[in-house]
Amino acid sequence: MTQLLTAEQVTATPADKINTMINQAFIYDDFAWQKEQQLRITYPKRAEGLHKVLYQCPHCHTEYQMTSSGTQLNCVACHKSWQMNEYGELVALDGLTEFSHIPDWYEWERSNVRNEVQNGTYHFESKVTVESLPNAKGFIPLGEALLRHDMDGFRLSGNYGNEPYEMIKSVDSMYSCHIEYSYLGKHGDCIDLNTLDDTYYIYPYGQPFSVTKIALATEELYNHKKKKPS
Ligand SMILES: [Zn+2]
Repeated sequence: MTQLLTAEQVTATPADKINTMINQAFIYDDFAWQKEQQLRITYPKRAEGLHKVLYQCPHCHTEYQMTSSGTQLNCVACHKSWQMNEYGELVALDGLTEFSHIPDWYEWERSNVRNEVQNGTYHFESKVTVESLPNAKGFIPLGEALLRHDMDGFRLSGNYGNEPYEMIKSVDSMYSCHIEYSYLGKHGDCIDLNTLDDTYYIYPYGQPFSVTKIALATEELYNHKKKKPS
């Protein structure tokens, strides 16, 4: 286990960096460690960005309508709110606290994605902006494209110049998916897809979405396929 932040580090670390660390901490279950150690994080914006990970409301089950600000997480659909206390636990402001431990909420989201995969209904489609990074010389803007993620994996279709292109990543070619929250502060959240000689940075837009769900679905699709070879 790693310590999330010492009191001295909290003072010395920029706000956006702290948010990134908090968002990623659940992966290693640093929240359990924080609670055990009774380590207090008094940072007033400690819940900001958490809605990107906790994208589904456990009260009304609506996806992509969570927001966060200050120490609070909120659902725009049913108006339920949770407070993140100084020990990294969530407490509902009114009624039942579904998940006080952040990783439990995340695993609940995963189980919902797993159900969609097992039922064969998982599907995501969105307009996207694409950039590629074929080498160290810099990003090449590839303009707009369409991204589909479903039971067959990823399919990216677009035009570069007048040439149509398509990139397909099958379910069994990816056991996980690299995502970024507000990558380089440019277009927002993105999904990275790699070919042998290129990396595509794919930014969905124009509709509510969560790159966290796409990453969970990538893992669950892979696990499902491995269990049931065709
Ligand atoms: Zn809700």
